[in-house]
Amino acid sequence: MEEHHERTGGTCIVCSTHKELGIRIYQQFMCTDCEREIVQTDVQDAKYPFYIDRMKQIWLSATS
Ligand SMILES: [Zn+2]
Repeated sequence: MEEHHERTGGTCIVCSTHKELGIRIYQQFMCTDCEREIVQTDVQDAKYPFYIDRMKQIWLSATS
């Protein structure tokens, strides 16, 4: 049971918090809260460049 939790949970690359629910993109983990936040964030929002930067980190680790 605990093994299952470790496999599904992880430390979110965006908020750096350990969450049980989220998506795993290659080696990185993003919690559902941040995923939802990114989807809802407007391009004009000040937080948007930050999210894009975090997404780039995922891509960089995936392609390197
Ligand atoms: Zn998060």
